[in-house]
Amino acid sequence: MFIFKDVEQISQHIHKTKASAQRIGFIPTMGALHAGHLSLIKASKQKHCYSICSIYVNPTQFNNASDLDNYPVTIEKDAKMLSEAGCDVLFLPTSDQMYGGKLIATKFDYGNITRVFEGAKRPGHFDGVITIVSKLIDVVMPDEVFFGQKDLQQCMVVKKLLDTSYPNVLFNMQPTQRENSGLAMSSRNVRLSKEEAVVALRLYQALNEVKLLLNQGLSVVNALAEAKLRYLQHPLLKLEYLDVVDSATMETVEFIASEKQYAVIIACWCAEVRLIDNILLTES
Ligand code: AMP
Repeated sequence: MFIFKDVEQISQHIHKTKASAQRIGFIPTMGALHAGHLSLIKASKQKHCYSICSIYVNPTQFNNASDLDNYPVTIEKDAKMLSEAGCDVLFLPTSDQMYGGKLIATKFDYGNITRVFEGAKRPGHFDGVITIVSKLIDVVMPDEVFFGQKDLQQCMVVKKLLDTSYPNVLFNMQPTQRENSGLAMSSRNVRLSKEEAVVALRLYQALNEVKLLLNQGLSVVNALAEAKLRYLQHPLLKLEYLDVVDSATMETVEFIASEKQYAVIIACWCAEVRLIDNILLTES
C-alpha cells in the first residue's frame, strides 16, 4: 500500500494509475477504523477499483469543539488494517494542504436534506462535509465513491453534491456494519464505557421496534411513541430525534406508501457520546 501525505505526490500517482485505465474507488474517512470502514474498501475492491482511502479528521464539520478534541486518532493501526484489507493507497492530507491555512467551509443549501436532522442539530456540519468531500474528490479524481448507510443523511447530501458538481462519479452506499450485539460500529463507540455500550443497544432496539410496529399496522405516530416509551426512557439516554423519513429526501412521513423507500432514523446521546443510527424499512 502506498501512503501519501502530499497532494502533489498523490496527484502524480493518480495520473499514472488513470493512464493505465484503472477505475479509481475512493473511500473518505476520519480514521479510527473499524470493520464498517473496511466493508467500504471491500466493496471498492469487489468492483475491481484501484482503492484509495483518505484519513483526515476534518475540523470544519465538527460543530462541537470537545467532539473534535476527543475524536480518536489511531493512524498506525489504521494503516495496518487498510494494508491487510488490500487498500492500494492511503492518503493522509494535512489541514494546510486541504484548506491552505483558512479552516473555513463553503456554505451549501441543498434544501431539506441539508437543513433537517443532522443539518439542524449540527449547524454547519454539512457545509464542512461537502467542502471536504469536494476538495478530496478534486485531488483523488475517483470514478466511484463508497459511503456507509450508517450516515444516511450524509449519503443523500454527497449524492446531491455528485449530481450537482461531479455527474461522472458513481455513488455507492454500503450497509451498516454492526457489532454482534447490534450496536452500529462507530469510531465514537470507544468512548462508551461497558455499561454505556449496553445501554446504547437500545437505539437499535428502538429502530427495530418502530419497524415491527409499522409492519403490524400501527400508525407512524403511535409506533414512534411506543418505541420511545419502551426503549429510550433511560437516565443515560437523551433523545434528539427518532423519526420515519423518506430515505431519498429525508422528509418525515406520517403514512407509508408502498412505492417509496423509508428509513427509521435516530440520534441520541448516550452519556457524553452522541450516536446516530438508522434502518431501512425494506432491510431484512
Ligand atoms: P467516518 O470515518 O466516521 O467519517 O466514516 C467514514 C465512512 O465510513 C462514511 O462513509 C461512513 O458512513 C462509513 N461508516 C462509518 N461507520 C460505518 C458502519 N458501521 N458501517 C458501514 N459504514 C460505516
